[in-house]
Amino acid sequence: MEKILISACLYGEKVRYDADHCLMKDDLFQRWKDEGRFIPICPEMAGGLPAPRPPCECDPKSGKIVDKDGMDYSDAFKSGAQIALALAQEHKIRFALLKERSPSCGVHMIYDGTFTSQKIAGSGLTTKLLKDHGLQVFSEFDLDRLKSVLDMV
Ligand code: SF4
Repeated sequence: MEKILISACLYGEKVRYDADHCLMKDDLFQRWKDEGRFIPICPEMAGGLPAPRPPCECDPKSGKIVDKDGMDYSDAFKSGAQIALALAQEHKIRFALLKERSPSCGVHMIYDGTFTSQKIAGSGLTTKLLKDHGLQVFSEFDLDRLKSVLDMV
């Protein structure tokens, strides 16, 4: 059975910047959870950041991950991404289900670096690294597409 790497906040763990979660309620999520498919990870906490922590965005000019005061958190984000990749490789995981819009886990969209809730097309640091190493990455809005892919393997 294919395992799925999942953002820990989607899995219900209180790891977000505001120390809350965003537990998924979908039937498909519950089924896969009951089947024991999920391997949860929060790359930002794996990289050493606490919860709560300052919300960060990717500065499109510098490529750095910063908070609204310009403090650079890029090293922690990079380290967390590497740990997520190592976990995926350890479990031979080919699929990930990650939280849209996060600077780590965003799949199709991220915030634009202005801290004004504006979104742009783009991926988070962990998503990019996982994709670069061959994983297929889906967001919480792509469950049907992920199911179609899993049905074929
Ligand atoms: S880094 Fe990923 S798993 Fe952690 S809180 Fe942000 S979106 Fe959720």
